[in-house]
Amino acid sequence: MPHIEQLSAHVADLIAAGEVVERPASVVKELCENAVDAGAGTVTVEIQNGGMTLIRVTDDGCGIAPEEAPTAFLRHATSKIKNEYDLEAIGTLGFRGEALAAIAAVSRLELLTRRAQDKLGTSLTLEGGVVLGQEEAGCPLGTTLLVRDLFYNTPARLKFMKKDAAEAAACLAVVQRQALARPEISFKFIKDGKQELLTPGDGQLRSALYAVLGRELALGFAPVSGSGEDVKVTGFVSLPTCCRGTRGYQFFFVNGRWVKSAALTAALEQAYANQKMVGKFPGCVLHLELKLNGVDVNVHPTKQEVKFGQERAVFSAVYYAVLSALGADKSRPAVVVGQAAKPIIEGKQTSLPLHDFTAPRTAPVPTAPPSRREEVKPAVQPVSAPAKPGVELPVPVEEARPAAPVRPAAPAPIPAAASVRQEEAPKQAPAPAPSPPSPALVEEEKQETPWRIAGELFHTYIIVEQGDKALLIDKHAAHERMNFDKMRAQDYLPMSQTLLTPVVFTPAPEEAAVLLEHGEELDRLGFDISDFGGGSLAVRSVPDYVSLGDVEATLTEIAGKLAITGSTGYQERRDDILHTMACKAAIKGGWKSGPQELERVAKAVMAGEVKYCPHGRPVAIELTQKQLEKQFKRS
Ligand code: ADP
Ligand code: MG
Repeated sequence: MPHIEQLSAHVADLIAAGEVVERPASVVKELCENAVDAGAGTVTVEIQNGGMTLIRVTDDGCGIAPEEAPTAFLRHATSKIKNEYDLEAIGTLGFRGEALAAIAAVSRLELLTRRAQDKLGTSLTLEGGVVLGQEEAGCPLGTTLLVRDLFYNTPARLKFMKKDAAEAAACLAVVQRQALARPEISFKFIKDGKQELLTPGDGQLRSALYAVLGRELALGFAPVSGSGEDVKVTGFVSLPTCCRGTRGYQFFFVNGRWVKSAALTAALEQAYANQKMVGKFPGCVLHLELKLNGVDVNVHPTKQEVKFGQERAVFSAVYYAVLSALGADKSRPAVVVGQAAKPIIEGKQTSLPLHDFTAPRTAPVPTAPPSRREEVKPAVQPVSAPAKPGVELPVPVEEARPAAPVRPAAPAPIPAAASVRQEEAPKQAPAPAPSPPSPALVEEEKQETPWRIAGELFHTYIIVEQGDKALLIDKHAAHERMNFDKMRAQDYLPMSQTLLTPVVFTPAPEEAAVLLEHGEELDRLGFDISDFGGGSLAVRSVPDYVSLGDVEATLTEIAGKLAITGSTGYQERRDDILHTMACKAAIKGGWKSGPQELERVAKAVMAGEVKYCPHGRPVAIELTQKQLEKQFKRS
């Protein structure tokens, strides 16, 4: 065995640096955090060659006293905490006093800084953590850190760097997160001389969201505001139709700090259960405000993971805030006429992961063609003149006022206990506390503009005219949602009807096996299935939603789903089965429906009870009179 010796301070520093400084993006993160902690109003981040040759971060914050500048580069030197008690309530992004020391240890570094009370600032040069010199310097208020030749003295680390483009993308992602964390600070990101991001710093999260995601994407987000026990939740979440193939657009912030948290992701995604398409993920920018001692940020060297004191309370606060945001959203996708605008639901950008954004994302320029959100008008609109003089638009009295009191457009009434997936569920069901609809909203609903069914297209789409807009309702999707909600409201216990003669059918062997295996579960849903021998099954009763002719098709589809989801949570399996039943029981697109049937569906949609089919597809889209007039060059 070789002798045991204590490492030299230099080697120890390099090892410690490795924990904090993994790649250029880690440097950008630490320097941005320092700028934020210094109270900056504007922060400019500049990189060259993916940050490998140069990273410059300039702020207009408080600056550093000349005599303290060298101290800032010592390990465990910080101005942010003083003793162990301060660790319990950390209000700054930094507190470990390690970043500057770590960055200096693996680069050539220059600091330029001046405080308001100093006439002259100071400039400090370091190489590999060693101070080369310090002198007075005339410089603007604030601090600039210039980091060159990162990892020049740790070739092992250098080898692990990705292509410049990838490192640059990671740096941009860091600045984007900071910008979303602090809308009151204007962030600028310049890559190889080209500006890639500029946020206005006007204090509005929406402005920051626009600048970071681009206008088109940002339009697919709805505002969130809610609170739970000692937690406040604000921000934006994707509309169910604007969910995407990755989780790359989920941003969570706790007291202004970007964090990764499985619990927060689960709370967000469960609020979309039965509203979004399978395999799609909602995006979000959610800010959580908690008491400083309600969250421990000292559990990870780069402070990305946090521990909540009351995880269950935080979970429910997020879940219900998102749920009520989705319920409050009144917008409908607009029909896109001509080629002016791309539908944002499946827009080209939708599948790009965040780091693929290379186009400049500067503040929004309102020159793009109007899209979705702008077309959406409040429900109360002056009823414009009938489309053509002479053609009266009769408004049936009954329809002028919705017969039933309008339910607030909340998502499916989900029993609290049922709404949470079993694996991650807090043991006790969170108390439902969605915020009540705002007075303005209630007002809107009361004065709903009268509407009428103007016809049906392709035996599939109901045309509804209301004020100066027309709606196309997908009758199958809407009816499917109505059925699904009804089934869930009945707490999964649809009426079961006994068949006069059992339906006997022969599914594929593995389908038969899976149906018999889940026999008990299916029985609770109203299916009485037994082995008929010879590979056949006998069905003696079915839920009343399933018509005789659909029994075999429904069960085969359920078998297919169970084969895939058999091992998932009970809740998801049930929802899956209900989706199938709701779909099979719904009126079909392409088939003829009676006027009462169409009216029932239209009523539910117009009352706002039904917005997305259980797979997250919209049930109605909107076309305005203005859009048509534009197309016909009438205006
Ligand atoms: P920490 O941020 O954990 O305190 P750092 O090593 O990042 O540790 O920074 C050390 C100290 O240097 C900070 O506590 C702060 O006082 C000072 N400092 C660093 N960056 C700046 C800046 N941009 N403006 C003003 N002071 C700064
Ligand atoms: Mg710091």
